[in-house]
Amino acid sequence: KKTLRFILGDQLNPEHSWFKEKSDDVVYFMAETKQETGYVKHHIQKVVAFFLSMRNFANELKENGHQVIYYEIDDKNNEQDLPSNLNKIIEQENIEHFEYLYPDEYRLDIKLKTFCNKLDISSKAYDTEHFYTKREDIEAFFEGKKEMTMEYFYRDMRKKHGIMMLDDKKPEGGKWNYDKSNRKKWTGKPGIPKAKTFDRDMEAVLNQIEAMDIKTIGRIDKNKFPWPISREECLDVLDYFCKNLLVHFGDYEDALHTDQKFLFHSRLSFAMNSKMLSPKEVIETTLDYYYEHKDDINISQIEGFIRQILGWREFMRGVYWKEMPGYKSKNELQNTNKLPDFYWTGETDMNCLKHSVNQSLDDAYAHHIQRLMILGNFALLTMTDPDEVDAWYLGVYIDAIEWVELTNTRGMSQFADGGIVATKPYVSSGSYINKMGNYCKSCKYSVSKKEGDDACPFNNLYWNFLHEKQKHFKNNQRMNMMMSLLKKMKKETLDNHINRSKEIIKNPGNF
Ligand code: FAD
Ligand code: SF4
Repeated sequence: KKTLRFILGDQLNPEHSWFKEKSDDVVYFMAETKQETGYVKHHIQKVVAFFLSMRNFANELKENGHQVIYYEIDDKNNEQDLPSNLNKIIEQENIEHFEYLYPDEYRLDIKLKTFCNKLDISSKAYDTEHFYTKREDIEAFFEGKKEMTMEYFYRDMRKKHGIMMLDDKKPEGGKWNYDKSNRKKWTGKPGIPKAKTFDRDMEAVLNQIEAMDIKTIGRIDKNKFPWPISREECLDVLDYFCKNLLVHFGDYEDALHTDQKFLFHSRLSFAMNSKMLSPKEVIETTLDYYYEHKDDINISQIEGFIRQILGWREFMRGVYWKEMPGYKSKNELQNTNKLPDFYWTGETDMNCLKHSVNQSLDDAYAHHIQRLMILGNFALLTMTDPDEVDAWYLGVYIDAIEWVELTNTRGMSQFADGGIVATKPYVSSGSYINKMGNYCKSCKYSVSKKEGDDACPFNNLYWNFLHEKQKHFKNNQRMNMMMSLLKKMKKETLDNHINRSKEIIKNPGNF
């Protein structure tokens, strides 16, 4: 039967069993569409990275002898939306059977199911062969449990896959988790190797994007690109991480610094989320490197890294499929404020936010603690509508695909799911930001002050938030200590926090 196989832009897995055999009866189809570039305003680097990676992937398939139809964004045959393109090709190529890979996004899952139901030819969907877990595994694992605790899931994954295990039950090194030793502040040493970038000419693709009137956000350096766009380049980034960054990854995982955007982070999220690299090969390669260099690399570095991928990444995917579609509209704390304008421009005097926003706009990247404890923290403390927060995160980051963006943003960072992902809201005053980095040193505001025009805004917003949302935290044991401090606070002090917070929230760009 003449078969059409459809591949989405984040399904660039060259190791998939589909590609093991070549057949004259199988045609692969890929397309850049305005539908996918338009459902949210994406960062320009994200659009470029996906288009170029998709093009490379299609060319590799062709070079390996497969038949491929590829529509660039400005192809005259491109209908710019998925069902229209597929219908057209089915007719044009006399297709008798349609196949696709399960999408990781709910919206596309429904779209493709609906499309198949309307088809008068047969169809079949396949696993992407990327993740360790299946969509429904988390639901089964936590069945009957009151809470979904990531740590238990992670331990089970370690056991199940024999990763860093001494035997069936005992973790290597005697401990499951070295999180406590992964909280160092970086103060200039050890030296951080120069971030890997790729020289490439992006003139042509940028012209196409402009000519097609695709609205984007963020900035781009026309010659230097920080993101890999082929499997070979992804493997280079992985190799670079093992040789240069793994040695201190865990230690400085939570660190913040004005002069170091990437610290010891791997920047492998785009390579994995586009599926050019699989989590399994990332874990196996870094573990092999660790075992070969055990005398130089502490176990806490590798365990911290494995936990992010085997634990958090798979956990978030499971939560997404368990909770969708309801998850996308959760707003347990009933937050309704607008996202401050400076998230789109970087124009603010708050130094931590200025650096984190500008870095996001410059590089389509911020590391985890910037996303959680600066950008997310401020959005939550100012009680921003989670829809607005999601739209920003989903657009701005190179790795933002809904299954992992939504669970991290609406769940972990905004507590809008009421505690499915996080057991308590990730909010803090300025002191946490000061403890983990040097932003406060060169800030207009004073991190040690709680009153006055130059007091760090986080210090006021923090107590105002706890006060405003106290009914939501009544039964949350992990909030007990802070709630009892709030209760003991002098009325005058609390009133000061509330009044200044009102001003900040009213005009976060200029208060
Ligand atoms: P590293 O620090 O080097 O970590 C290695 C890998 O671990 C990452 O590449 C990633 O695949 C995985 N990982 C680490 N933390 C998480 C996590 N919490 N959830 C899932 N995977 C994780 N990650 C995305 O991939 N896409 C997103 O859209 C996204 N949005 C986020 C939004 C918020 C508010 C927060 C707090 C976190 C978000 N994350 C997201 C998780 C994390 O911040 C990024 O994966 C990480 O910063 C990517 O950079 P890196 O590759 O250098 O990561
Ligand atoms: Fe951010 Fe406050 Fe520190 Fe300024 S003083 S950098 S606003 S935490």
